[in-house]
Amino acid sequence: MNDTSLCLRNIGYLVTCNDKQEILRDIDLNVSDGLIKSIGGSREDGIEEIDASDWIVFPGLINTHHHFFQAFIRNQPQFAWPNDVLTWISRIYPLFSKLTEPCFYHTALICMAELIKYGCTTAFDHQYCFPKHAGTRLVDRQIEAARLLGMRFVAGRGANTLPASAGGNVPEQMIESTKTFLNDVERLVSLYHSNKLGAMEQIVVAPCQPVNCWPETFIESLGLARDKAIQLHTHLGEGESSVMAQRYGKRTVDWMELQGLYGSDIWVAHAWELDAREITHLGELEIGVSHCPAPIFLVGEEITDLPTMMASDMRIGLGVDGCASNDNSNLAECIRNAYLLQCLVASQRGHRAPDPSDYLSLATRGGAALLGREDIGDLSVGKCADLFAIRKDRLDMVGALEAPQAIPAKLGLSGPTALTMIDGRIVWRDGEFPGLDESKLAFEARVELSRVLDFRG
Ligand SMILES: [Zn+2]
Repeated sequence: MNDTSLCLRNIGYLVTCNDKQEILRDIDLNVSDGLIKSIGGSREDGIEEIDASDWIVFPGLINTHHHFFQAFIRNQPQFAWPNDVLTWISRIYPLFSKLTEPCFYHTALICMAELIKYGCTTAFDHQYCFPKHAGTRLVDRQIEAARLLGMRFVAGRGANTLPASAGGNVPEQMIESTKTFLNDVERLVSLYHSNKLGAMEQIVVAPCQPVNCWPETFIESLGLARDKAIQLHTHLGEGESSVMAQRYGKRTVDWMELQGLYGSDIWVAHAWELDAREITHLGELEIGVSHCPAPIFLVGEEITDLPTMMASDMRIGLGVDGCASNDNSNLAECIRNAYLLQCLVASQRGHRAPDPSDYLSLATRGGAALLGREDIGDLSVGKCADLFAIRKDRLDMVGALEAPQAIPAKLGLSGPTALTMIDGRIVWRDGEFPGLDESKLAFEARVELSRVLDFRG
């Protein structure tokens, strides 16, 4: 925990996302030991002050689905989406299986740096790519990157265990045994995981998806999750249900129930292909959903029915998803895209017009609920000092301040933040990562990329 104290003085608008959804005006926020010590109240002498009178301050965003390792294929015409999943996988997986240990460090830096620039303060990553030649310290290297940037990091240790001979579609080079996988999760938990207030590092057990793992992998993963008090994450409802029905006689949601895979310590990515009964059932199973709007534009055949999910009080957060299906790591952009997608279908589905402020809540409070955390997701006394600020004295903000909580969905946050704070520490301000040379980090990442593909970026 960071032991510095500082005060954001006279914040223009403080969008708290607290239980009352309060918007506070012209107010101080004091930070100490990585936590919010006070909001308003008497002023303290002798601590660092930052004039925040021209700022709108929001809770830090929480990303609930990503695959950092995919950053190497961004915007490369040879890996562009070909309108067909199998062709696409046949192009991108051979590259993924060539990645080396340093690639996982540099891709983590690339993605987390962008997340921070656009207001994200807690990053979850679903790392399921473990090429045999790359060794076992791949998540460790991601944690190293998170520490360098000061990111609050929840590392999903994933795996694919089902070989092609048994129906999987992942190259042999990336297949692991359930035992190898879970032994490594245990190792990571013992080295890094904490459930304490303000934990900067957590581990999640994250088998990649039901179609590419043995059922035992999931059952044993849940056993480990319960034993270690960690969360379980996977992909669900992204087009695999018909394959599951052929293989097991059950679509994925019902298969999860059959295996005993349910509870409030599980969240899944996507869920766009679920019908109304399956959505209700997923809610009954207490399984949360990370909604990733970007891949809906790219490959989704359905727009996820968020209003029905929200109406059933499911836990819902937002995710950028990996760079194979979303070239950037801008979670603020996902807030706007998620909102606009629902506007597109609201009338034809008989839903009321979406409330833009709900979509900021998904990326803050919703994300915290998915990760099982009560110490992040809103700006209240005693919670983590994770926040970001944008300037309100800009031409593009004129006339937009009546409902600051709706700005991320309605206007979009069209540029890097003025400041991003994590654990009470300023990790990004005025276009720079304090104490870090971004150009040097980018150069080093480029050198590494050039080693695994003919890279000219
Ligand atoms: Zn994914």
